[in-house]
Amino acid sequence: MPELPEVELTRRRLERDITGKQVQQVLVRAPKLRLPVPPELEEALRGRTIRAVERRGKYLLLDCEAGWLIVHLGMTGFLRLLHTPQLPGKHDHVDIVFTDGSVLRFHDPRKFGTIAWTTDTLDNHPLLAGIGPEPLTAAFSGAYLFRVSRTRRVAVKLLIMNMAIVAGVGNIYANEALFRAGIRPDRAASSLSRTECERLAVTIREVLQESIDLGSTYRVEEGTVTYHPLAFDVYGRGHGACTSCGGALEAVRLGNRSTVFCPRCQQ
Ligand SMILES: [Zn+2]
Repeated sequence: MPELPEVELTRRRLERDITGKQVQQVLVRAPKLRLPVPPELEEALRGRTIRAVERRGKYLLLDCEAGWLIVHLGMTGFLRLLHTPQLPGKHDHVDIVFTDGSVLRFHDPRKFGTIAWTTDTLDNHPLLAGIGPEPLTAAFSGAYLFRVSRTRRVAVKLLIMNMAIVAGVGNIYANEALFRAGIRPDRAASSLSRTECERLAVTIREVLQESIDLGSTYRVEEGTVTYHPLAFDVYGRGHGACTSCGGALEAVRLGNRSTVFCPRCQQ
């Protein structure tokens, strides 16, 4: 599943590749994604120019002059720019054809992705309203994390994976950030000290930024994400040794997600 770094890398790729292109037509082959593709999309996008590509959490936001195209990649969604026409495959659900002949193609084998359209202010859109601060901006800080955790007894890992608290911290990055911060994932959020919150806010930012910098790759063919192998201390290492103390890592389920931590280094 693409997480925030992969979505940010997609945003940068699209920003470079499609900004300034003008839409000639939209072809919707499979309108039933996680939400129905809006029927007015074809009409709304025709003749419009892509002015910018932005991101909010794991949503890609394409500024199309008259409104915003909101895209979520879901579990297996991928946006590919084709420079020459190619016959669509089974999972190629939506094409945005540009006047220069290139095509932005949405491919999604599992159809958990979303394509929405709004002419309203983005913050008012039901998919985006209520998303917490972006972890890579100053709005997300230790002081903020301390404030919002005071009354919450939920496990700290689940708190930081809650999109209403902070945007786009998925399972893998939550595990990594907690390991680096030396905090057990199952600690009650309200038990974190101010210092621990400061440390956690820093490590969340670090793991996301490093993954972006290392260029985590999301491959369309397999619909899978290939992470940089050196980027993780605990992800996928449930039966391995702690990179810090050499002891055995523990793997548990938390909120039905795999959770790996070091019982010695994380308290
Ligand atoms: Zn350890």
